[in-house]
Amino acid sequence: MKCPRCKEPETKVIDSRTIEDGFSIRRRRECSVCGYRFTTYEKMELDIVVIKKDGRREPYDRNKLLSGLKKAIHKRPVSEEVIRNFVKELELDLIQKGEIEVPSSYIGEKVMSALKEWDKVAYIRFASVYRDFKDPFEFVEQVEGLKREKGETD
Ligand SMILES: [Zn+2]
Repeated sequence: MKCPRCKEPETKVIDSRTIEDGFSIRRRRECSVCGYRFTTYEKMELDIVVIKKDGRREPYDRNKLLSGLKKAIHKRPVSEEVIRNFVKELELDLIQKGEIEVPSSYIGEKVMSALKEWDKVAYIRFASVYRDFKDPFEFVEQVEGLKREKGETD
């Protein structure tokens, strides 16, 4: 990163920390020639392609996933920090798998099982969108399935 004051290409990082969203790093830099200090931000983007159910491919979109999750947990006892951490973990998992393309169902199922643990209402909300229910019966089946599971554990 060039010094904005004297254009010297050599600047050193004097401090670096992860900022709230967990996906960005804030760096304090100092020019090795004029000593000017400035801040830069670096954001990690997951470079992966998602294969949709109909075979179409689109770039992985963190914001889309986060906004879907936020809708699901709206007014539910699940914090945004929990979902951000989840997305972070999911991305690390995808990076470690080293895949360039990943089926949307893989991500969808991971999200569904996480939501199921956090909050049943959030789970149903997300599932109703994700599974794209064609008729109300499918939705009822999903709810009944949860009731059965609950019955087993109670
Ligand atoms: Zn400088």
